[in-house]
Amino acid sequence: MRAMVLRQTGRPLVEETRPDPEPGPGEVRLRVEACGVCRTDLHVVDGELPPAPLPIIPGHEVVGIVERQGPGVTAPALGARVGVPWLGGTCGHCAYCRSGRENLCDSPEFTGYTRDGGFASHIVARAAFCVDLAHAPDEAVATAPLLCAGLIGWRCLCRAGDGRRLGLYGFGAAAHILAQVARWQGREVYAFTRDGDASGQAFARSLGACWAGGSGDAPPEPLDASILFAPVGALVPAALRAVRKGGRVVCGGIHMSDIPSFPYAWLWEERELVSVANLTRDDARGFFGEVVAAAGVRTTTTAYPLAEANTALDDLRHGRLHGAAVLVP
Ligand SMILES: [Zn+2]
Ligand SMILES: [Zn+2]
Repeated sequence: MRAMVLRQTGRPLVEETRPDPEPGPGEVRLRVEACGVCRTDLHVVDGELPPAPLPIIPGHEVVGIVERQGPGVTAPALGARVGVPWLGGTCGHCAYCRSGRENLCDSPEFTGYTRDGGFASHIVARAAFCVDLAHAPDEAVATAPLLCAGLIGWRCLCRAGDGRRLGLYGFGAAAHILAQVARWQGREVYAFTRDGDASGQAFARSLGACWAGGSGDAPPEPLDASILFAPVGALVPAALRAVRKGGRVVCGGIHMSDIPSFPYAWLWEERELVSVANLTRDDARGFFGEVVAAAGVRTTTTAYPLAEANTALDDLRHGRLHGAAVLVP
C-alpha cells in the first residue's frame, strides 16, 4: 500500500510504501477510493491536539470498497462501498457507551489520530464502525466530505435546536454542507466568513445563505442559534452577542484558540454555549439514511492526488479553496 505518513508533528507528511495491512478479528480492509481532508487533520499534523502515538496515517473521511474481511466478520460485505469516519471504535461498556453517548467514550479510537486513517491506498477499519453509504452519492470524491464535515456538522445542527435563523461562522467544508441541509429544513442561513472574504461570501450566497458577511459584522437581525466551525476563540463572544435571548451557540471544532473574557451580560438571559464532540453511529445512520439524499446535498470539492496531501493541507490552512479538499489514491 501507499500512504502519506505523519512521522513528526509540525513536519510535512512523508510518502511511504508498506505491505498491505491485514484485517484482524472484527476488522475489514478497504481499498480507498477517496479521503477528505478535514481541519482536524490539520490540528493533528500541526500538533495542536493531545499527543498520540506516531507515526500515524491521518485522514478520517474515507470512502472505500471492502476487499478483505477479518475473522468473524460477515458485514459489511465484500465489494460493498462504505465510509470510515472519525469515530473508529469505542469500548462498548463505559457509562457513555451504555447511555447512547458513545461519542464521549472513555476509551475511544479515532481514525487518523489513534489508528491509521485514509491518506493511503488501503485502510483497516473496525467493521462495526463502518458507515453504510447505500444512500450516498455514487461518486466517491463527492461523498468523502460528508463523512466528517457533513456528519459532525449534522450533529452540531441537531444540537443547535430548531430555531429558524441560523448563523454559521467559518464557511468551509462543514458549513457549505450544512447550509444546504438547513435550507432544506426551512431555516434562514447567515454566513460569517473571514472579514473581507468576498468570494467566500458569494459562495455562501450561492448555497442559499440569505445574508453573508465578515465575522466582525453584526447580522441584520438577532439569530436563534449559531454554529462555530472556525477555530477562533474570539468568535465565541461575538456569536453570543449576535443571538437573541435564549439563543444557543454551538462550538463544532475539536480545537480552538483561547476564548477572550467577556461581560456576563452577553451570556445572561438564558443564552447557551455548548460544544459538540465526535459523533455516534446513530448520527451516521440518521444523516446518511434520512438527510443526504432527501436534502439533495451536493458537495463542492477540489481533488488532489494522494501524493499531494501536503499541498491539500496547506491550501486548507490558508483558506485557498471553496468547499472541501479530497485526496484520491
Ligand atoms: Zn473531521
Ligand atoms: Zn466507551
